[in-house]
Amino acid sequence: MKTGLIETWRARLPVTAQTPVITLGEGGTPLLRADRAAKAAGLPPGSVYLKLEGMNPTGSFKDRGMTLAVSKAVEAGATGVLCASTGNTSASAAAYAARAGLRCVVFLPKGKVAAGKLAQAVMHGAEIVEVSGNFDQALALATEAAKAKGFALVNSSNPFRLEGQKTAAFEIVEQLGRAPDNHFIPVGNAGNITAYWKGYRELGQTPRMFGWQAAGAAPLVLGRPVANPRTLATAIRIGNPVSWKGAVAARDESGGAIDKVSDADILAAYRFLAREEGVFCEPASAASVAGLFKLARARRAPEGLSVCVLTGHGLKDPGITARFKPRVRRVSAGGRIRL
Ligand SMILES: *Cc1c(COP(=O)(O)O)cnc(C)c1O
Repeated sequence: MKTGLIETWRARLPVTAQTPVITLGEGGTPLLRADRAAKAAGLPPGSVYLKLEGMNPTGSFKDRGMTLAVSKAVEAGATGVLCASTGNTSASAAAYAARAGLRCVVFLPKGKVAAGKLAQAVMHGAEIVEVSGNFDQALALATEAAKAKGFALVNSSNPFRLEGQKTAAFEIVEQLGRAPDNHFIPVGNAGNITAYWKGYRELGQTPRMFGWQAAGAAPLVLGRPVANPRTLATAIRIGNPVSWKGAVAARDESGGAIDKVSDADILAAYRFLAREEGVFCEPASAASVAGLFKLARARRAPEGLSVCVLTGHGLKDPGITARFKPRVRRVSAGGRIRL
């Protein structure tokens, strides 16, 4: 059995026998049939699948890119890695840097990083720089600092990140026996939609690509950057996507669309997946399914087989769950309770 996606997809990745492989066993995530989601979208059973990227080692798809970016950084002789992050990139960079024995510096927008992600960066020993500003401003600082220090910048502007992330498309095609007809995906910096599109194209099997931004952070929908992006889905709280052109190409070449979903729609899909499918993803991830549901409400859900990518695990952002008040009944030890 092969460990990690570099070993699994070596022939399709920019590595040589000399490349040191820094892996945590990423990739090989489940593709789960979701008939309740299909039914909710008015689609037949077997037509909706969820790609559970929260099952990667640090709980998000960022690990797919990070195994390659950190391996190539070590190969190039870097002594450290550096990134700006809404959270998951820093968690992943910190883990892979720890594994490689490299320094890791993360630039985080103040107060906007979910608790689970920050916990990971702390525990993996990342050096944290808090930026009073948003992600886009943190990225500008990180890019400068990486250059000055000679550290590898492991944001999605790093081409190795996208090379690693494209392997998720290979897996989906292997798991289904073909490419899906429609691919639904949350969009923040747009690296992931760009990477999936590259992966599908390399196989010569291409679905229509449907990207989903949060309504308060939808520069690709508006056609211009958003100065103060707002959404509770912090992982896609991006005002000026790094891979803007890649996203537009994926949309146009595939005959797909990039549209927006409200925070209320995101939360509804987040709750639906947890309650009806038993799948706990983070809010940003639910944007893909929220998008499918939005099209369904407009009677425009596309025909055929749809894959919705769930990009990160629900435990990343426990703070959001405070919005859902459980009914708690109380009983003292030795007492009785009727259920
Ligand atoms: C990074 C991230 C995204 C956005 O991916 P992009 O490549 O920036 O478009 C979506 N969801 C989660 C959970 C993420 O960590």
